[in-house]
Amino acid sequence: MSKPQVLQIGALSERFNRTLAERYDVTALWQQADPMQFLKEHGATFELLVSSARFGCSGEQLACLPNLSVICSFGVGCDPYPLEQLRDRGIVISTTPDVLNDCVADLAMGLMIDSARQLTAADRFVRAGHWLSGNYPLTHKVSGKKLGIVGLGRIGQAIARRAQGFDMPVRYHKRRQDPDSSYGYAADLLELASWADFLVLACPGGAATHHLIDAKVLSALGPQGILVNIARGSVVDQAALVSALLDGSLGGAGLDVFDGEPAVPQALFGLPNVVLLPHVGSATQETRLSMEELVLANLYAFINNGQLLTPL
Ligand code: NAP
Repeated sequence: MSKPQVLQIGALSERFNRTLAERYDVTALWQQADPMQFLKEHGATFELLVSSARFGCSGEQLACLPNLSVICSFGVGCDPYPLEQLRDRGIVISTTPDVLNDCVADLAMGLMIDSARQLTAADRFVRAGHWLSGNYPLTHKVSGKKLGIVGLGRIGQAIARRAQGFDMPVRYHKRRQDPDSSYGYAADLLELASWADFLVLACPGGAATHHLIDAKVLSALGPQGILVNIARGSVVDQAALVSALLDGSLGGAGLDVFDGEPAVPQALFGLPNVVLLPHVGSATQETRLSMEELVLANLYAFINNGQLLTPL
């Protein structure tokens, strides 16, 4: 029996690419000499698409795929997909929720601790031999500080649970109050930023949250406040963030994501109160394996009974 045809937009891990190619008749779009031309000529062949929160599928690509019925996406971010077009055409999409909550929430805690206690900066201090000439300057306490979370979804809630172990009072902001949550709700983001010592972003990217964190929010967070972003670079007005960090009107930042990544503002490189990570929220062996397995399980379920396990 012939294997179902699958179009794969971008390369995932070698292990994943190999497994997918063993199970399906895979066309690797990134290996085509001219991917757009290939889609124009052969796009109608494909009903099944595999992509990721990084590669997505543009409106232009989608227009060349008239028979597409499903997208199985690696990751939870859906900002690189034209969701309205998908909805209008009845194309369903699965993501890989929940299996990455622990690692992304762990990383958010790590960024809070590192930006406040300056672990990586202190490590650089030791490696440079500066300890031989004197002690590292005093930093800021984490336990007991007030934590504001923007987006109390699956990852935001995992961060809030971890913060309980640090005796941190938690409040959150999102579009709707969660009736089941015992944490304080702030309908007004500025009010949350003024109250919080740490403001952690765990909402989706995309048009609705573009520059949600602007100069006003950063100024409300203030010179003692720390911003942690594990959401998407687009959520923050990055120019305003860089300027607030440089002039000291914001206390610090722990950033896993950037606007225009992998380019990162070089102006931040010398600041000890800023931690810069290369978008590694879910990047552990264990979690990436679980995410890969969930993409494959969704594809299998759709092919075999027309149902996705984790539809958007
Ligand atoms: P989720 O369960 O869907 O939670 C999203 C939360 O954001 C919800 O509480 C939602 O509540 C809130 N929200 C949505 N739109 C909002 C808006 N305009 N303003 C304020 N809040 C808004 O998603 P998740 O699984 O926790 O993932 C959250 C995000 O984390 C993802 O979308 C992705 O961008 C990011 N992420 C990053 C990494 C990384 O490697 N750094 C890894 C995984 C995920 P309401 O709908 O009530 O507003």
